[in-house]
Amino acid sequence: MSQTQIKQPTGPGRSPTAVQVGDITLGGGAPVVVQSMTNTDTADASATARQVAELAAAGSELVRITVNSAEAAAQVADIRARLDAMGVSVPLVGDFHFNGHKLLEQFPDCARALAKYRINPGNVGKGSRRDEQFTRLIEIAATHDKPVRIGVNWGSLDQQVLARLMDENAHRAEPLDTLDIMHEAVVTSALESAAQAEAIGLPHDHIVLSCKMSGVHDLISVYRTLAARCDYPLHLGLTEAGMGSKGIVASTAALSVLLHEGIGDTIRISLTPEPGGERTQEVRVAQEILQALELRSFTPAVIACPGCGRTTSNFFQQLAEDIQAYLREQMPQWRQRYPGVEAMKVAVMGCVVNGPGESKHADIGISLPGTGERPVAPVYEDGEKTVTLKGEDIAAQFQQRVADYVARRYGQKQ
Ligand code: SF4
Repeated sequence: MSQTQIKQPTGPGRSPTAVQVGDITLGGGAPVVVQSMTNTDTADASATARQVAELAAAGSELVRITVNSAEAAAQVADIRARLDAMGVSVPLVGDFHFNGHKLLEQFPDCARALAKYRINPGNVGKGSRRDEQFTRLIEIAATHDKPVRIGVNWGSLDQQVLARLMDENAHRAEPLDTLDIMHEAVVTSALESAAQAEAIGLPHDHIVLSCKMSGVHDLISVYRTLAARCDYPLHLGLTEAGMGSKGIVASTAALSVLLHEGIGDTIRISLTPEPGGERTQEVRVAQEILQALELRSFTPAVIACPGCGRTTSNFFQQLAEDIQAYLREQMPQWRQRYPGVEAMKVAVMGCVVNGPGESKHADIGISLPGTGERPVAPVYEDGEKTVTLKGEDIAAQFQQRVADYVARRYGQKQ
């Protein structure tokens, strides 16, 4: 795991229980973990291993794959072997539904290769078979010493729990709102399933809970209740967040409130990729949420002004984008060579009127010439003006200054 923790928030909800998933710790004061999920057919071991490797390279610390058929389960150990051969150690989580118990029984190498299982109590079967199938899956997890995420989903809520709570509510002197009962049913389903799993023999520190909702207010309300009622590590995520900026904004709105309150030990951003879009976007968004909340740092931040009437060319936007891309590209090597560089702040400002002030607050910053200003660009390092760049290649000169600054400041810590 990379050295990326800055600080943990304090709050009522952060889980004190630590659950070990491979070499990643969820809860117990560990940094909030970023996870993601593949969208390849797991039966295609080559494509799935490739996408898992891409997600891990982007910074996903756990990767979930769907295990929905015998063909998929048969490939899981091979996917693990392919990743190990590539030097990718990211733990794999298996997503199971109604046939999970059978697949894990039939494919013990799949059961062993996965670091964690995820089940949705609303999807493991119906009536008495639900208990039987849930029990079997939990027994297999206990036998293989694997943690389980009990992941309740708003869209596939356990109907038995909901019916029971609705019935109880109908007999109250002052019945609660239907929405409150729905929320309660989600939380009750998770907590009762966890209690059942412990009764079957899964240790307390092998259980992670999630209650994914598709509405921001619903998610916040349910997780506050969940965090107040249990000490299991919590997996946060808005389900069906959607595509593009809508999905990013909705996820950020919901998760920020909870994370700020100290609720949540691991997050996944369920974005629908745009056609041709990269799956790794969900990892970047998760990292950016954690970094914006100052819970963790992953990549040096570029602080750029929004531009205004002083900036009639897009030169400074281009420089800000180029510097951001450069920093991202360098991070895989820099993370190893320059510990702490992920917390660096780089300012790219559009004029020399307001730019220097912001540049002084960054670790390194540049103020580009605004409209009508002399074609010079002062650079500030650690609050002091160090050089004034001139000429046609200001962007290349600044990039070199950033590289030198990083080597000088963070290289000394080796
Ligand atoms: S720093 Fe300068 S260019 Fe950027 S928004 Fe402020 S005044 Fe405009």
